[in-house]
Amino acid sequence: MLPKTMLGNTGINVTKLGFGALVMGSMQANMPPEEGAKVIRKALEQGISFIDTAHVYGTYEHIRKAKEGWDKELVIATKTPASDYEKAEEHIKYALQALDLNCLDIMLLHAARAGEDVFQERAGAYQCLKDYKKKGLIKAIGVSSHNVGTVRVAAAREDVDVIHPLINVAGTGILGGTVQDMASAIEAASHNGKGIYAMKALAGGSLLERMDEAFKFVMDLPGVDAVVVGMVSEAEVDMNCRIFQGESISEKERKATAREKRLKIVGVYCKGCGRCVDACPNGALSMVEGKSSVDESKCLLCGYCTPHCPEFAIRVI
Ligand code: SF4
Ligand code: SF4
Repeated sequence: MLPKTMLGNTGINVTKLGFGALVMGSMQANMPPEEGAKVIRKALEQGISFIDTAHVYGTYEHIRKAKEGWDKELVIATKTPASDYEKAEEHIKYALQALDLNCLDIMLLHAARAGEDVFQERAGAYQCLKDYKKKGLIKAIGVSSHNVGTVRVAAAREDVDVIHPLINVAGTGILGGTVQDMASAIEAASHNGKGIYAMKALAGGSLLERMDEAFKFVMDLPGVDAVVVGMVSEAEVDMNCRIFQGESISEKERKATAREKRLKIVGVYCKGCGRCVDACPNGALSMVEGKSSVDESKCLLCGYCTPHCPEFAIRVI
């Protein structure tokens, strides 16, 4: 049985291991909905009862297909990139319809790289989330963030139920502070009753070699209720579920799962700074039309390039 937990004071129960849908979506692996649905369904059958997605991931169809006929407990968290009220309302209505739900469990401001002014800058969108919560169409609201300052601000707000922060043992992708700064912001938020589910525990895949240590680091942090992990194969679902049930995984199995992975440069995030090209010891990266591009025949998936990207645009998927 996968361990379960309550997300802060929300009254929402989730498995400590959540399914991260980002990796199968259009920004990364771009799996067809039928194929993605099979992997998600496998996760549900293995006991995972928590899925994280977002408007921009393009995975609502994958999730809707996966949960067809599924009558057991399932919590779905999604996010809106909207700034104004009307757009947020559109995204809420779309999520309800596309996921075939009467009520959204969790809807967050998708604020990955936004700074601590996000609640002022996107006040209209957040007001919309609050209004839909009052109407009973969303159970819990909050923010997702890579930024320490944003987590601190959210921790102090009474109208935030859930925070989805980025944290990993290497500190990869954390903005506005160190790993310790983010850990203490998370602890403070949890102390204030916020539900915390972490993202990027494996730093976009670059910590796969240190998987046990990386998961343990995040799950042992005071205040972290759950962690969502991106998965694109049934073997990966199986392995992650076993890890979260305390089983040890052989090196052979780990490698077999790792072999299915590849490096992906997320084009919309890449700013073309070229730092990753200099960081790759294998000559696998080059600049093509102003963006970094990977030569898969040369890439060893070592992950050395990922910490050099200030935009968190390099992922192992
Ligand atoms: S993962 Fe390693 S080999 Fe592949 S592009 Fe990055 S640094 Fe180069
Ligand atoms: S370091 Fe990141 S932003 Fe810079 S070129 Fe490489 S992928 Fe693009």
